[in-house]
Amino acid sequence: MTDQDQKRAGAILEIDLEAVAENWRRLSAKLAAGASCAGVVKADGYGLGAAKVGRALAKAGCRLFFVATLGEGIALRRALPEVEIAVLNGLLPGTESDFAAYRLMPVLNDLGQIANWKRFTPGLPAMVQIDTGMARLGLPTAEVARLEASPELLAGFPLRAVMSHLACSDERDHDLNARQLATFEALRKKLPPAAASLAASSGIFLGSAYHFDFVRPGAALYGVNPTPDDLNPMVQVVHLKGKIIQTREIDRDSTVGYGATHRMDEPGRIATVAVGYADGWLRSASNRGGFALLSGHKLPIIGRISMDLMTLDATGLDPALCHPGAFVELIGENGVDAVGATAGTIGYEVLTSLGRRYHRVYKGEPMSDEPA
Ligand SMILES: *Cc1c(COP(=O)(O)O)cnc(C)c1O
Repeated sequence: MTDQDQKRAGAILEIDLEAVAENWRRLSAKLAAGASCAGVVKADGYGLGAAKVGRALAKAGCRLFFVATLGEGIALRRALPEVEIAVLNGLLPGTESDFAAYRLMPVLNDLGQIANWKRFTPGLPAMVQIDTGMARLGLPTAEVARLEASPELLAGFPLRAVMSHLACSDERDHDLNARQLATFEALRKKLPPAAASLAASSGIFLGSAYHFDFVRPGAALYGVNPTPDDLNPMVQVVHLKGKIIQTREIDRDSTVGYGATHRMDEPGRIATVAVGYADGWLRSASNRGGFALLSGHKLPIIGRISMDLMTLDATGLDPALCHPGAFVELIGENGVDAVGATAGTIGYEVLTSLGRRYHRVYKGEPMSDEPA
């Protein structure tokens, strides 16, 4: 980054693509023999840039990618000409020719989608999702029974995989995990033989019975802890540094910010940082115990988060350290999960809310002329 970029930026978002690749390798190393690791890059790679993340994963060896929408699939195909791309949200009416033109695989979620795929794009591969307990997407049990009774409904295209999705895999002891596993085992036997997939990030840590032929992690690739009750086995990917743009001394009993929600017990010092809720630093994180780091010092985030700014309690900090132009660390080794907790949400939402105003710096980006 040039000096000029440093001067212009109110905040710098560093995304470590080498860490994404390392997380993919760590997850791959956990898998049962014969199982492989796909990469989920929906929602623009969980806010980090699907094309860049996708290229880094492909370079690490990932060959199968999942996006949510057709538009995301088309964009990813432009970045990654060679890999397999599946579209989780399924086949919406009238989109068959796009799937064919961009060599995308729909995840077929009901009998109507299966019929349309067969009819409009004969011979092209697709996946089928069955619902084992999410009640969100995928064929309900009754439709799986219809396919068992009438196998010709699935004839006419290669069944790339049968998949389902776990509802509670981040709660290791939740009884729905084993029930979904049993339901998945039973239902997939009613369909023609095909590769199978059940686990996303957290499901990988439920053990090899959940791995099947491939797993579909997203969040863990980006540093979210897939085992919330244990230490995070993943590497941090995101670092966010916000710039202090003003500091001030304030008196005892002064209030800070909109709504005067924070009152100073003692005289103190405030540092104002150029990151607010318009940058995805959620307003619900106001007065919830969040903090920023400056050279190892913890600066509590106090008062309301506003659109473009937040205020830190910098009382007692050396002005030589804490001054306009200095950067504080907002996301670092604390990780996105801790930041989410102070906003009453999860690391996933912190990532996908990361703002568009940050100056983005990618570390470890594969050269664009290297084969993916
Ligand atoms: C989002 C999603 C994933 C990835 O989930 P993570 O928890 O981010 O690993 C996998 N499969 C399906 C069907 C999804 O919707």
